[in-house]
Amino acid sequence: MSGKYFMVDTTKCTACRGCQVACKQWNKLPAEQTHNWGSFQNPKDLAFDTYRVVRFNEYPAEKNSVAWYFFTDACRHCVAPPCKDEGDQYVKDAIVVDKNGAVIYTEKTKEFGKKFEDVRKACPYDVPRMDEKTGLAAKCHMCYMRVNEGLLPACAKSCPTGALVFGDEAAMKKLANERLAEAKKKFGDKAQILDIDDVRVLYLVVDDKKKYSEYA
Ligand code: SF4
Ligand code: SF4
Repeated sequence: MSGKYFMVDTTKCTACRGCQVACKQWNKLPAEQTHNWGSFQNPKDLAFDTYRVVRFNEYPAEKNSVAWYFFTDACRHCVAPPCKDEGDQYVKDAIVVDKNGAVIYTEKTKEFGKKFEDVRKACPYDVPRMDEKTGLAAKCHMCYMRVNEGLLPACAKSCPTGALVFGDEAAMKKLANERLAEAKKKFGDKAQILDIDDVRVLYLVVDDKKKYSEYA
């Protein structure tokens, strides 16, 4: 195995949403009409035209304060993508994996029709979304066109805190393990890297993973 990986250190994320906005800008995706739904998080979820959303999870903490568990959520670029391998040959052909491991939804996804529901259910992280108007399925594509030119994905380029980092597999796994060792000293054994052998987005979390995302 080789290719490119993200490393996401949730302890360094300030929920500035730079990554979310940079993704919209680079991909020329329109803003969604949002409203106050009782959270600082907006929009509420991933969408056909929102490939990345920063989740704002808020929990009561000591001394009448709150604890924030920020989580920049997008496709994990699975090493063996369940969405691609859900069983249908047309789906297999419509979803491609490039030399860096980016899982890319092509124009062929327009013909998924009812198959799209099986694709979405196959994803352990509930990532893929379909445009009701065109039928096209979409999600993060790892900015493969930037990466092929030696650039960082727009999200990683924008992150001001070092929470969202991108690079070669060995470097990202080394960084993840170094950050994990630091986090364990401070937060104890709940610090962990999620699904390290299965995905190309290595999340460091320091508490129960479900506190970060229902699908973490
Ligand atoms: S996270 Fe979901 S959409 Fe992304 S590659 Fe894995 S199965 Fe596919
Ligand atoms: S740009 Fe970095 S610090 Fe800001 S929300 Fe995204 S991951 Fe967090």
